Amino acid sequence: MSTIAAIATPDAVGGISVIRISGDKATDVADRIFKGNKKPSDMDGYTCSYGYINDENSCHVDDVVLTVFKAPRSYTGEDVVEISCHGGRFITKKILRIVLKNGAEAAMAGEFTKRAFLNGKLSLTQAEAVMDVISSSGESQLRYANALKEGSVFRRISCIKNSLVEILGNLAAWADFPEEDVPKVDPVVLEGQIDRVVNDITKTIETYDYGRIIREGIKTVICGKPNVGKSTLMNCLSGYQRSIVTDIAGTTRDVIEENVRLGDLTLCLSDTAGIRSTDDVIESMGVDIAYKKIDEADLILAVFDCTSELDEKEKDLINKIYNKNTVIIINKIDETSRIDKKYLTDKFKHIIEISAKNEEGTEKLVSVLEAMFISNKSDADEGIIANERQKMCLEKAYNNIIEAKDALNNGAMLDAVTVCLDMAAENLMELTGEKASETVVNDVFSRFCVGK
Ligand code: GDP
Repeated sequence: MSTIAAIATPDAVGGISVIRISGDKATDVADRIFKGNKKPSDMDGYTCSYGYINDENSCHVDDVVLTVFKAPRSYTGEDVVEISCHGGRFITKKILRIVLKNGAEAAMAGEFTKRAFLNGKLSLTQAEAVMDVISSSGESQLRYANALKEGSVFRRISCIKNSLVEILGNLAAWADFPEEDVPKVDPVVLEGQIDRVVNDITKTIETYDYGRIIREGIKTVICGKPNVGKSTLMNCLSGYQRSIVTDIAGTTRDVIEENVRLGDLTLCLSDTAGIRSTDDVIESMGVDIAYKKIDEADLILAVFDCTSELDEKEKDLINKIYNKNTVIIINKIDETSRIDKKYLTDKFKHIIEISAKNEEGTEKLVSVLEAMFISNKSDADEGIIANERQKMCLEKAYNNIIEAKDALNNGAMLDAVTVCLDMAAENLMELTGEKASETVVNDVFSRFCVGK
């Protein structure tokens, strides 16, 4: 494989920048451009040397620290040299140009991690986790990304695959040596084994939503009738005036969206038009969108004004949301309350009282949401699937196993069952990367940044 190089740090001014070189000729390239008290090719792995880099006219470019990693004990599994220089954009690019003129090729996006994968340093799911670690923006996201990087999903999927392989082994033994002393495959036992695999796959697919919430945020809808304080709440959560707040009912005509960080969670907030009957065509479109958003949401923050009694429209809304992930927010507690709280406490588990205008009580919202959405560390370690690709592989495996089950129940030959289970095992190996096609692998790494 060629020797590749790229800048591994952001394209910005900083204290230091790092240029990374990986491949058989990494130390040869470094020998040609580095002047220090040690020759890079004579250095041991995990050692550094101080020196400087000159350009082709022998002009001093920068003094640097050069670190050598020897194959296979490096990120990529190949010889790697990292040059740490002063963090100017011009200097860093100039050193990269010198490196490229002296025998290295420019690395493609994700090529270092791709090599780590091809050299067996990481599974495909672990490689995917590298980007999740980089893009983590909170404790739970980092914890889950690190668990993925340490192989949680790989282990979980391997376990399921091993169960399938065991079933396939029994089927093959019986099919190949029926006259020998191999135990006959009992369809009832076989179905029980298949059901266990189906159950494991279903549970794993279900982790996708939790992973998405941690990675991308909770799709949250703030709803309630006009003037209860939805926009004020949204502004209070997002920290600045974003929705239009007025005393005129129905001023939030459409859906206003905003991402806010709340404790360890990200809420992707939509402030919808007030839920009520309206003759205003534009606003009624907003109300329709509001109901659609409610159906798609991970979380509903339903706001009620404590100064008035619940009306029929609000009771309709309650009926629509009472079996969903809802937090009831009783607003305006700085005023005299007339609301029937019991009606709400009978139906909902999570109820908090706030004054959005005075920014009082919102900390209770944070603790309720953390209890609702952040599961504990062991969940992350059990393996939470991380992206659409992994989910699709699991869904394909699921469909193939269901087909195997149908074949079994319809009295088909065991060969037909074997074929379907075999395909399911392949789907799982595509997920971990053990049998992923070049197209799949290239697609995964194309989403990386250059230098990673
Ligand atoms: P929306 O139509 O539900 O978005 O309601 P707005 O956020 O536009 O608020 C309607 C009115 O209620 C405005 O005059 C707000 O200042 C007022 N309001 C909002 N929150 C509170 C609160 O906590 N206490 C009091 N007293 N008034 C509030």
